[in-house]
Amino acid sequence: MRIVADCVVIGSGMGGGVTALALARRGVDVLLVERGERIRREPENWSPDAVFRRRRYKPSEEWLDGSGRPYKPGVHYVVGGSTKVYGASLPRFRERDFEATEHTDGLSPAWPFKYADLEPYYAQAEELLRVHGTSGEDPTEPWRSSAFPFPALEHEPYIADLADRLRGLGVSPAANAMGVDLRPGGLCIRCSTCDGFPCLLGAKSDAETCAVDPALATGNLRLLTGVRIDRLETGPSGSTVVAAVGTGPDGEVRIAASRFVVSAGAVNSAALLLRSADDKSPAGLANGSGQVGRNYMMHNNAHIAAFDATRRNDVVFQKTLSVNDWYHGAGDGEPAGVMQLVGKVTGSMMKLEVPFAPTGALDEFAKRSVEWLVMAEDLPAAGNRVTIDTAGRIVTHRRALGIDNHRRLMRKAKRLLRRAGYQVIGTQWFGIEMNSHMCGTTVAGHDPARSVVDGWCRAHDADNLWIIDAGFFPSSAAMNPALTIAAQALRVVAETEIAA
Ligand SMILES: Cc1cc2nc3c(=O)[nH]c(=O)nc-3n(C[C@H](O)[C@H](O)[C@H](O)COP(=O)(O)OP(=O)(O)OC[C@H]3O[C@@H](n4cnc5c(N)ncnc54)[C@H](O)[C@@H]3O)c2cc1C
Repeated sequence: MRIVADCVVIGSGMGGGVTALALARRGVDVLLVERGERIRREPENWSPDAVFRRRRYKPSEEWLDGSGRPYKPGVHYVVGGSTKVYGASLPRFRERDFEATEHTDGLSPAWPFKYADLEPYYAQAEELLRVHGTSGEDPTEPWRSSAFPFPALEHEPYIADLADRLRGLGVSPAANAMGVDLRPGGLCIRCSTCDGFPCLLGAKSDAETCAVDPALATGNLRLLTGVRIDRLETGPSGSTVVAAVGTGPDGEVRIAASRFVVSAGAVNSAALLLRSADDKSPAGLANGSGQVGRNYMMHNNAHIAAFDATRRNDVVFQKTLSVNDWYHGAGDGEPAGVMQLVGKVTGSMMKLEVPFAPTGALDEFAKRSVEWLVMAEDLPAAGNRVTIDTAGRIVTHRRALGIDNHRRLMRKAKRLLRRAGYQVIGTQWFGIEMNSHMCGTTVAGHDPARSVVDGWCRAHDADNLWIIDAGFFPSSAAMNPALTIAAQALRVVAETEIAA
């Protein structure tokens, strides 16, 4: 199959979906190529057994870790990418996240643009993704030029009481910025199957719902699903991409275009560039710096479940509150991170983590527990990288950095919760297979010798190639990444020749 388009976008997740929408709205003829298909609206969308135990929406593909151990990565090859199952927590990064910060384990480098450069696009991304939030509660929140598009989600009684108790202990519980359709007449029913599940109602602000479908409605977008792009080919100069070549159900697919956008997610974008090596670019496309694949990051994350025998937790939509007080420092000069409520975890979901525990006991525990994500920054390092082995498989090498900060944050979080009355606290540390917040690998920077793309995600080494997904992050910050990816996609389309 041979296809021609003005602009080809590879990958329909947060980076690719929003880029495609912004381009289509400017009248550009866009072809969006996605290796997966749409997730069907079906009862399994909301089944913990289907989603978590049977991995219905995850690929069977395996990656290798740095010691050669195969694992099943937490990626989603579907229209909308990982946003189909994400928790829709959509905070902005903080102003200091764009500046250089020293950590014990290394440097969190400066970004090639500042918060003020991204701020107008954060506002647009919040509109696009129907973000509900409020200002004035969080001591670390960055300035904003406009109010949140929609008011914050109300806490259910258990969470409102928890917020009061935490406030009484001297921290500042703040509403989560959430992307769900709770507008007047909106589709969201505040169910318990949001975080980690696809939305059966189309009420979650994922990239398919808020970007791909509206882009199709412009009439300027063609969506090609079930086609995996395997390599990009360049012309005689080696610095202009001329074709994306992939595999579909009927064999090879060849797409010619004048501009190419790679948005396959941090790991797959790097893999695609490395697989595009040829005699003109033997180390991989756009890799004159040798940086493609390097600086692979994912947050240092853990879940904690805090149990109080005296309080029943009947909450349905739990993910409405965060404690960010220690984001920039926990009193010792070291940045820490955030505590954020997650979707309500049930006994059967806990059983996946502790299979030996009796189901009945876990159900009773879950009726009286509240669950948090405790998230700290990872740091970029040259040795933490994505490579391709001789059999063409993806290898992710990672030695977690910033672990001491994360452990300190965990201790603070647990102490806080004990003081708030919780008697038992269970912990689930995330391993490399829980790489849901992966970033880095095609980092942005001013210096072509030390970065892959410039401050507008354009490849230093290829004049018609942009790489717009979580890969451009020079640092991971300690906040959920998706809103920042969307804002940067809007900025790139508004400020560069990509839409010319
Ligand atoms: C369970 C879970 C919960 C999360 N919760 C949150 C949250 O609450 N808030 C938040 O901010 N973030 C959250 N995230 C992270 C968020 O979803 C990601 O940061 C975001 O989706 C990354 O966007 P991306 O464009 O880099 O990649 P993706 O959204 O993953 O998109 C990449 C796309 O490229 C496609 N693709 C890959 N390779 C190819 C190829 N060779 N050819 C064609 N197509 C290809 C994939 O199929 C996919 O559709 C969560 C993630 C998970 C898994």
